[in-house]
Amino acid sequence: MPQQGRNVDDVIADLQAKRAGDARWQDGKTFGMVYDGGPSVHEAAERAAMLFLHENALNTKAFPSLAQIQSEVVGWTAELLHGPDTAAGFLTSGGTESIQCAVLAARERGRAERGIRSGEIVVAESAHAAFHKSAHMYDMPIHTTPVHDDWTVDVEAMAAAVNADTVLVVGSAPQYPQGVVDPIPEIAALAASVGANCHVDACMGGFVLPFAEMLGRPVPVWDFRVDGVHSISADIHKLGYAPKGVSVVLHRTKELRRYQTWMFDRWLGGFYGSPNLQGTRSGLPMAAAWAVMQHLGVEGYVDLTRQTLVNADLIRAGIDEIDGIRVLGDGSYHLIALASDPTSADPIDVFALGDSLLSRGWFHDRQGPPDSLHSTVSNSNTGVIDSYLHDLRQCVAEVRGRATHDRSTSYSTVE
Ligand SMILES: *Cc1c(COP(=O)(O)O)cnc(C)c1O
Repeated sequence: MPQQGRNVDDVIADLQAKRAGDARWQDGKTFGMVYDGGPSVHEAAERAAMLFLHENALNTKAFPSLAQIQSEVVGWTAELLHGPDTAAGFLTSGGTESIQCAVLAARERGRAERGIRSGEIVVAESAHAAFHKSAHMYDMPIHTTPVHDDWTVDVEAMAAAVNADTVLVVGSAPQYPQGVVDPIPEIAALAASVGANCHVDACMGGFVLPFAEMLGRPVPVWDFRVDGVHSISADIHKLGYAPKGVSVVLHRTKELRRYQTWMFDRWLGGFYGSPNLQGTRSGLPMAAAWAVMQHLGVEGYVDLTRQTLVNADLIRAGIDEIDGIRVLGDGSYHLIALASDPTSADPIDVFALGDSLLSRGWFHDRQGPPDSLHSTVSNSNTGVIDSYLHDLRQCVAEVRGRATHDRSTSYSTVE
């Protein structure tokens, strides 16, 4: 911290310089983390962000605009996901918080309606780590079940894990690691059989699957059209193309939503009403999401989804043609897990491949088990697929017969 403040130009120049080593998402070279809807989407988001940079949704009596913005964005999302008229939700800071809210709602419902003090969670090993983080935070037992060879949840294994204390059973649409959609109707039926909530984690798919369906792609039914789905999480800051800090958590009814809110009126500071996990709450991401959704409209999202799926299909086709690597999963949507092909005479070490791709600027998360390179394909990658596949072929040739000792994976980091 400087003793004396510095002028704005110098400060901003320093920040600019810090970015030299960052992933080059503007060039389409990241497969995840930044989702680029194109120049006009940037403009909508940035102008809305400037307008609402300083606003605070903590108390919407001061900022009724933010109450309205939240209600409209949540309403549009509910409509997209075939929520009934009773559906209700909130904006949160991201998928993790939406999941934390849904887990809390399940726990509180179990306590209120079934008298279960220590409600238990059942998830497959493919479910996002945020469910385990929630279990940790709320001190809830969590049972993890295996997935089938096609990477979808094994509902029979889940059935063996549920019990009288189960308050939440989870499915994903799609799950993150291999991008496959779980059999939500079966999972919801299982949850119903023990009186538990069924949450569908559509953080990744919430703003893709509805548009893929409109494009005529086969999409198994997964949203509120499935009886017994209590809540859904959908991230606008992923394939909704809004800047970071905004997600939707939806409940089938306002009564179910009531279980995620918290109110307190024995404080000298006055009544404390809390819709999610935040206190002070930036208006920026909420307004930017509103602007992006209005700017794109359904047709804009359909176009971005069409482009995303073209990009993903081209990458999958390219991988299929290269000896030694393969795609895990059914390859239907926008997530790709690139793995070594054990049936090849010459399987590739995909982590060595990842290092080689990174040296050419292509950033993939390493994930596993099994060892694989993750791509969340989006419109960000439009226009670079040919050069990606060109580099991929060269990198495979470069690392053929080589392995790296570093087997570490990194979806996210602590520091
Ligand atoms: C991204 C993601 C999350 C977590 O969302 P954050 O916005 O990163 O907190 C949860 N589930 C799935 C399937 C995801 O892809």
